[in-house]
Amino acid sequence: MAALTEFELIDRFFRRQENDAGNARGIVLGIGDDAALLAPTPGSQLAASVDMLVSGRHFFADVDPEALGHKALAVNLSDMAAMGATPRWALLAGALPDADPQWLAGFARGFFALAKTHGVDLVGGDTTRGPLNLCVTLLGEVPPGKALLRGGALAGDSIWLSGALGDASLALAHQAGRLVLTADEAAVCWNALLRPAPRVALGLKLRGIASAAIDVSDGLVGDLGHVLEASKVGAVLELAAIPRSEALDRQLASSAHDAALRCLLAGGDDYELCFTAAPSRDPSVIALSAELGLELRRVGTITAEPGLIVQDSLGRPLAPLPEAYDHFAA
Ligand code: ADP
Ligand code: MG
Repeated sequence: MAALTEFELIDRFFRRQENDAGNARGIVLGIGDDAALLAPTPGSQLAASVDMLVSGRHFFADVDPEALGHKALAVNLSDMAAMGATPRWALLAGALPDADPQWLAGFARGFFALAKTHGVDLVGGDTTRGPLNLCVTLLGEVPPGKALLRGGALAGDSIWLSGALGDASLALAHQAGRLVLTADEAAVCWNALLRPAPRVALGLKLRGIASAAIDVSDGLVGDLGHVLEASKVGAVLELAAIPRSEALDRQLASSAHDAALRCLLAGGDDYELCFTAAPSRDPSVIALSAELGLELRRVGTITAEPGLIVQDSLGRPLAPLPEAYDHFAA
């Protein structure tokens, strides 16, 4: 088969009629010109975010392309969720080592399936040959003043987490031989790593309830730390309350306790939401959990005193806390 040209590749895998102008989703001009033209909902603010996934850094080069397509969009959707924004338009910039149709078809399947779920249209991008690297820009909308920021937490607020933390990094710890999962546990943990479910619906419902929010992408300690810093407050967390899977619980009770604790508190790649809300809103959050069919756990309290304390079941602070992942740390 003749090699695909750059434009054939874009046309075949990334340009979809259902994402073109005229679909009533605010696309005046879609893929094909020098820029897309978009018509945001009058009066709304645009939320803009971009995330890059680099081969060998964020994923293994031989990862299932469908999972990669899913994740490239999911990590951006998670940022929209954390802002309480409605995701709308995506741009996809990719460096690809070659134009492998099978790989591209898989990637596009994963990407567009998730895009459809969330009503996101792909309106442009850039395609170049190079070491595998994918960069998605996502634009969303939020009513003025309604975005969920990191800086709004107040002393006395409850701290909440969605879902469960640590499974994604448990998969990596298992692969690295730091602990041993059963085959079933490993399958669940790999799925958490490869196919995170961005909490977009939760983010939208938290408008008007949450005082601050962040998505947990680099581990709870680091990401909650960003909220505390931005809000100029501290926090006390109950270790026992931090939601985790049975697989992680089993590791915590084993000789791999320390590695498992790292996964839970600082593992990263969770894409759950951590948010704060006034304690008077506790019943609203509990009702929301039932409405969305999504576990929401109250894990601690914001304090006026700066600093993050994680307490064990006897009220003793863990020290030291595992550190968050930093791409440039020595
Ligand atoms: P330019 O050279 O003017 O930047 P390109 O030739 O790179 O334009 O791209 C042509 C059109 O295809 C543009 O509308 C661009 O947004 C779109 N495009 C390029 N790559 C992708 C991609 N991977 N996914 C979606 N759209 C893309
Ligand atoms: Mg270009």
